[in-house]
Amino acid sequence: MKRSIYMDYAAATPVDERVLAAMQPYYNEQFYNPSATYLAARRIKTVVDNARARVAALLGTRSVEVHFVPGATAANAAALQGIMAQYPDKQLLVSSIEHPSVLDFVGQYHGAEIPVTPEGVTDVTALERLLGDDVVLVSVMYANNEVGTIQPLREIGQLVARVREARRQAGNDLPLYLHSDASQAANYLDLHVSRLGVDLMVLNGAKIYGPKQSGILYVRTGVPVAPHGGTDNVPNIVGFARALEIAQASRHEESQRLHTLQQQFMNLLEQQLPAARINGSRKVRLPSNVHITIPGQDNERLLMALDEAGIMAAAGSACLASSEEPSHVLKAMGASDEDAQSSLRFTLGRDTTEADVRRVVDVLASLVA
Ligand code: PLP
Repeated sequence: MKRSIYMDYAAATPVDERVLAAMQPYYNEQFYNPSATYLAARRIKTVVDNARARVAALLGTRSVEVHFVPGATAANAAALQGIMAQYPDKQLLVSSIEHPSVLDFVGQYHGAEIPVTPEGVTDVTALERLLGDDVVLVSVMYANNEVGTIQPLREIGQLVARVREARRQAGNDLPLYLHSDASQAANYLDLHVSRLGVDLMVLNGAKIYGPKQSGILYVRTGVPVAPHGGTDNVPNIVGFARALEIAQASRHEESQRLHTLQQQFMNLLEQQLPAARINGSRKVRLPSNVHITIPGQDNERLLMALDEAGIMAAAGSACLASSEEPSHVLKAMGASDEDAQSSLRFTLGRDTTEADVRRVVDVLASLVA
């Protein structure tokens, strides 16, 4: 049988063997509840504290600001509901390409969407115009999960800081917080929270070769958000910390390697499938993402044919795969419904090889011919 080719790393990553090994003891030998009082449990509490300290170091922050959470959806909800419940009549601004776990809150609160450019990058000038005196929270993801565009988070952090200062001088005591869903960023990008200027940030273990439903919510000291506890999921906490360390230690090298494969992928598409258009910025883009529209082609049909050829890819995001709705991300970038339904996402990862890239383009070209 032919080896299957996985190109959906933005949806799920396999758990790294080293992560699995780190987690294993905490399922059986070391199963104790870290809040119990006996010595064996207190040792587990030390393990959790140690994991938190290592994550904090990677973010350039302190342990008290790092909260382990059961996944990014839960963390985004804790952040957005935490702030908005305290300021229900104030405004929430979110970029129009957010994951549904953020975007869905626009309708629940007094919310508005920040437009993006046709290249899928948050329009900072538009954000500046939208940033009125009653905005309390801005949420912009670090990197988009569908088209892979990297958002101008530092620039937005600087803008938010300027608005805060202007409010202080004007005697407006409404706080202004910046939240970022960095679920897709940690394999490739810098995570220092002070450099980014974020007050709240979410990381997702499921996208970094760690366990599913693991992650953290960073909450800057003084920001009134306290995620709910529950019994610590010790294996997931240990696994997340290890996965984040590995991802951050290898991010430069892995970015370089995938960037080369991504360029090869795009060049081969140009040669073998000239009708395909690349979506999203070519400059500010995760090295793992190739997102295309092939006008006139039905993406569901192509995905099934690719699957039959042993190739696993996606149309839009995994969460949308079962819905008939065209991608809100592509629509926000100005694509028509037809184009959105003729679009495919290929996301590369640690096991992707040049042979995989060649084979995927060969098969795709043969399906469209
Ligand atoms: N945010 C982004 C950008 C994502 O890509 C995902 C996962 O697809 C999530 C949030 C949700 O993560 P989870 O399903 O692990 O809660």
